Amino acid sequence: MSRMDFLKDEINKLKEENRFIKLRVLESEQAPIAVIDGKKVINLTSNNYLNLTTHPKVKKAAADACLKYGIGTAAVRTIIGTTTLHGELEKRLAEFKQTEAALVIQSGFTSNTAVCQSLMTSHEDVLISDELNHASIIDGGRLSKAVKKVYRHSDMTHLKEILESPEVKKARRRMLVTDGVFSMDGDIAKLPEIVELCERHDTIIMVDDAHSSGVLGNQGRGTVDHFDLKGRVDIQIGTLSKAFGTIGGYVAGCQDLRDYMVSTARPFLFSSSHPPSVIATCLAGLDVIYNEPELLEKLWTNTKFFKEEIVKAGFDINKSETPITPVMIGDTKKAVEFSDRLFEEGVFALSIGFPTVAKGKERLRNIITAGHEITDLERAVAAYKKVGKEMGLLS
Ligand code: PMP
Repeated sequence: MSRMDFLKDEINKLKEENRFIKLRVLESEQAPIAVIDGKKVINLTSNNYLNLTTHPKVKKAAADACLKYGIGTAAVRTIIGTTTLHGELEKRLAEFKQTEAALVIQSGFTSNTAVCQSLMTSHEDVLISDELNHASIIDGGRLSKAVKKVYRHSDMTHLKEILESPEVKKARRRMLVTDGVFSMDGDIAKLPEIVELCERHDTIIMVDDAHSSGVLGNQGRGTVDHFDLKGRVDIQIGTLSKAFGTIGGYVAGCQDLRDYMVSTARPFLFSSSHPPSVIATCLAGLDVIYNEPELLEKLWTNTKFFKEEIVKAGFDINKSETPITPVMIGDTKKAVEFSDRLFEEGVFALSIGFPTVAKGKERLRNIITAGHEITDLERAVAAYKKVGKEMGLLS
């Protein structure tokens, strides 16, 4: 008997509930056609929206920075982990997001937790959150001291009720947090209505644009630009791990927000900074976003094509409006089987089950990128049709 034997029971429980995760292994570059577990497949799983992971200019920027500055900073930002490149990237991210300032933090995940924890510091504060917000926002709420209020997904009537309730009205600070694009369904937050309501009720607005930056709005500036709400959203969170293809997150907003976060954001204060090569990658990525608008165009041409074809084939894509395209299955076991059978057909689409999504909402999640060719997407839809018919999910 060992003190760790309890884990066997826990693992068995996870297996019974179809929640035990076996890692697939990428054996090639992160690319639209990738080698995964020894098999060359059409990859519909990565958040590599603009296909920057393999862009020659971006790769060169990383290599050059590595040779010039070394492999890492070996320090947190507040000690000596802030290089000139970090400062330059923050200036350019603020310009991209059309805000006064920006601050790079370890990841999108920790950017969300850091802001919620740093700004919501009292039981007299209220944090208002969409029920389908990302796990990092939920954890941010847990780390904050605020009272949490969760509204039904994109239900503006419910949000209004919450904002008008006496408990929320009398709060010291109110902050609403929403994903800009919801990561499981690919639908876009009703930001214009959210902004109207929050302005009326003196509520800070924070948007997590992890799946919108590089994807929505002019030059991929995100949901705030998409809805023409410049200057009306207080905090924008971005990630450098999706459209930018590398790693990291950032908070964009006013200068005071940046200054305050530098002194209070715990991941920023207590976890080391990004290597210069990562920062150089993001700077080069921004240049590519500005100079090669055809990537964003191709992302949307591909997205429209895949959505139309998969719907024509008879699948339900729920409310998706963006490259994130769920194919609804409605059962965890079937979703897992569908994903495995697609893989055998040379297509990798991830199955997502409970508790990541609600029971009955199990699905395969497809992410379309600028790197896919129309022929890849045609082959993917053909595989979907074949497996769908074999499993009796399509007539
Ligand atoms: N927010 C959302 C909506 C996300 O989907 C993700 C990534 N899954 C994150 C935040 C976290 O971003 P990162 O991978 O940079 O930590």
